[in-house]
Amino acid sequence: MLIRYFWVLPQLNELAHYNDRVEVLRIKNQIYQRLKLHSNYAYDNAVWDEAYQAAQQHDVDWFKRNFFLKELFAKQKFNGVYFYDQQGQLITGLSVDPSFTPLSTPEFTDPSRYTSLLINPSEVRANQLKPIIRLQFTHVLAQPAAVFSHSIAPTNENGPSAGTMVVWQFIDNDFVDKLSLEDSDPIDIHTGDELEVLFQHLSAELLQKGVNAQIYRERLLIGARDIQGKPLLAFSFAPSPRLYDQSYLASSTIAGLLMTASILVIFFAAISIRVVRPIIRLLQTVSYASLSNDYSVRTHLRGNSELFRLAGKVDELLEVVEQQQQKLKAQNLRLEELSNTDALTGLANRRSLDTYLNALASHKVDSTLALSLLVVDIDHFKSYNDTQGHAKGDKVLQQVANGLKQLTHGATDLVARFGGEEFVVVLENTDAENATYVAANLCQGIEALGIPHSAAPMRIVTVSIGVATKAAQQPLNPQALFDAADNALYQAKQRGRNQIVVAS
Ligand code: GH3
Ligand code: MG
Ligand code: MG
Repeated sequence: MLIRYFWVLPQLNELAHYNDRVEVLRIKNQIYQRLKLHSNYAYDNAVWDEAYQAAQQHDVDWFKRNFFLKELFAKQKFNGVYFYDQQGQLITGLSVDPSFTPLSTPEFTDPSRYTSLLINPSEVRANQLKPIIRLQFTHVLAQPAAVFSHSIAPTNENGPSAGTMVVWQFIDNDFVDKLSLEDSDPIDIHTGDELEVLFQHLSAELLQKGVNAQIYRERLLIGARDIQGKPLLAFSFAPSPRLYDQSYLASSTIAGLLMTASILVIFFAAISIRVVRPIIRLLQTVSYASLSNDYSVRTHLRGNSELFRLAGKVDELLEVVEQQQQKLKAQNLRLEELSNTDALTGLANRRSLDTYLNALASHKVDSTLALSLLVVDIDHFKSYNDTQGHAKGDKVLQQVANGLKQLTHGATDLVARFGGEEFVVVLENTDAENATYVAANLCQGIEALGIPHSAAPMRIVTVSIGVATKAAQQPLNPQALFDAADNALYQAKQRGRNQIVVAS
């Protein structure tokens, strides 16, 4: 395209322009050649002793006999011939139309109008008596015409002028028809108002030198001015056809550009799908996983390219990390359970109880409800250990723990091993009356297990229970509540064991 724009088209245009100039010169020359017939004829007849004498003698008959001949007009193809003496007086003359019908032409008979056509004898003297010929254009009967004026001279071309011979011809369609080559575009003639514009775009002017080919409305123009220098007529003809495309973008170039553009689009789309988007997906997946600590995400990119295989590896890695994470969570859960559980009995341990009570204390909503706490202690347990051994003692602890667990509601009641052979039961949403009932039930329940204890007065394992209650609408103070229950337990021991005491 650049070569076409900067080199080929300028060259072609330059060539075409040159060709136009040649064409203008050719047509201009053809017009002159056509008119030259008249100039030759005028010379042959104006430079002739007989005509010279006839002019001097105003021999009208001689002129009529020699020039007013139908065949002559037809052969020479002019429209008129006139003779004037050296004073500029008309001797005789005749104008005819193509059918030899005489025309009345004031331009050649009215002295006030033809003087500009005459050759003044002083001009001939200034030309060292050599004859003078002049071509001019003018209106005849309001139509453009070419006029040859020739000074009348002796045959030896040496003598003062005897007058002027004028030969003229209409420049009309007939004239240009004979100029046009058979197979070429016709030459048109323009006259009248349009000349003003056309004369601004002329490529050449008749009677003037210079050619500057310029195309106006797809025509080349040659103009001719009249004697006063005003536009008289213009010839127009088509420039030789351009055998190349004037547009800067050839269709092949456009096709090339479109093809390049589409290839680029497809290329970038492919890059985007195969490279850019996978990379973005990879980055997003990995950064989401690491920021949110959620390793369940995957790239889900599958393919054979290096990048897609890498994405597959990233997914595998995420899978491993996720599994590790789940194991870790399970372990942590287990550890937390262990840290809150008493190893021997499986009940909540002291630490878990503290957490539980503190959580309840900090929940203002729960303080609106009643809450009771029982401290349960095995009677005469030291002597059990002493007589049965520590291992059997542990078994008893487990049996009592299970008993407590089964005799309470797991969903609402917490049973914890407080330490040694002492247990705590927390009863949510339970007032003193209900707590007393629960405590009594526990006491009887453990007794009913009937675990043998030879060293105890009742020969079976029993428990003593202290009960304390936080009334509804009162704040919970875990330590105070425990102390109250513990005091009640102390009293239960004092009163003989295997019984409950409710704190006052
Ligand atoms: P009381 O009726 O006044 O409660 O008398 P007691 O003997 O039960 O009370 P004391 O506090 O004197 O004795 C508690 C005993 O509990 C001491 C110890 O041998 C036993 N004990 C504490 N923890 C464990 C344990 O984990 N396993 C076993 N087998 N015995 C324990
Ligand atoms: Mg004790
Ligand atoms: Mg005890």
